[in-house]
Amino acid sequence: MKWYINKKIRKGKVTDITRRNFLKTGLSGIVGLVTLRAGSAPWNSITENQPKRRLIQTVTGTISPDAMGLILPHEHIMCDFVGADQVSKERYNPDEIIKTMLPYLHEIKQLGVQTFVDCTPAYIGRDPEILARLSRTAGIYILTNTGFYKEPYLPKYTWKVSAERLAEMWAAEILEGISETGIKAGFIKIAVNPGPLIPIQKKIVTAASRTHKMTGAAIASHTVKGVAAIEQLDILEHEKVDPASFIYVHASGEPEQKYHFEVAQRGAWVEYDTIRKETSEKHIELIFTMLDKGFEDSLLLSQDSGWYRVGELNGGKINGYSYLVREFLPILEAKGVGKELIHKLTVLNPSRAFTMQR
Ligand SMILES: [Zn+2]
Repeated sequence: MKWYINKKIRKGKVTDITRRNFLKTGLSGIVGLVTLRAGSAPWNSITENQPKRRLIQTVTGTISPDAMGLILPHEHIMCDFVGADQVSKERYNPDEIIKTMLPYLHEIKQLGVQTFVDCTPAYIGRDPEILARLSRTAGIYILTNTGFYKEPYLPKYTWKVSAERLAEMWAAEILEGISETGIKAGFIKIAVNPGPLIPIQKKIVTAASRTHKMTGAAIASHTVKGVAAIEQLDILEHEKVDPASFIYVHASGEPEQKYHFEVAQRGAWVEYDTIRKETSEKHIELIFTMLDKGFEDSLLLSQDSGWYRVGELNGGKINGYSYLVREFLPILEAKGVGKELIHKLTVLNPSRAFTMQR
């Protein structure tokens, strides 16, 4: 049976090792931990001779991929774009952020969302302790990440250290925990320039690839431009990393959908993650074209919504997370996308994308 009924219908602060410990210890402590587990070449798989476990690493512990339920794979609780040099826990009050953001999580919990993937990286406001408190209070699983954003939100030492060193730091945040919090990152979040990739971004993509090989964690890369997505897949291939571990974040910002097809064809995830009322028609077209082409197993849907803006009064203007489930999925259904396929797009696909095998 076709996936749709009638084609005609649709024509209508820096918290962590990344700065504090690095500056203090010059990485030796962190690297030691990882090297112990990984042997002399830590970017080689750590599990070659062991049976692999499938798991999801949330801010409150490890769960089975089957327990994730309905998933929003790309959202933000908070961001601080003040710059890598100035970002700090002193700039906000955790209680106020929790009080402000909790109702938005309650709202999606009531709509059936069980897992929220927080895509705010270090140096633009990642705070795993706030995420863990929110997760416990709202009763929603939350994932946080390791990795870096892009210029000008990179700490200065990014230029000085090698891809291997970055990978060791990031792997430590997945395997050992983020700084003294003990909270472990559940995936790798990076960002790239529009392409062709500049040297610092190539290094970051290489570091993410090696982190993946040490941990099994997915790489979600803020990408937008198709050429940048292809270039990243080439780097992954060169590093012998399975493209299935790569999420092309903000794909819907690339108007030439041929790049989406190519990324999906190569086995990576295409994420349409700026779904909201104003962009719904565009997203419906994109999604239906992908489904027409047979790429239903490569799609992820989210909103890139939120977020508490550190430095603005009461967090500034916050977009809630409910649109996708409350309005957009019913539109897809009304246009002929069956419940089973919606389940695949919002439950099965994202749980596969974020599953770590190790
Ligand atoms: Zn985002």
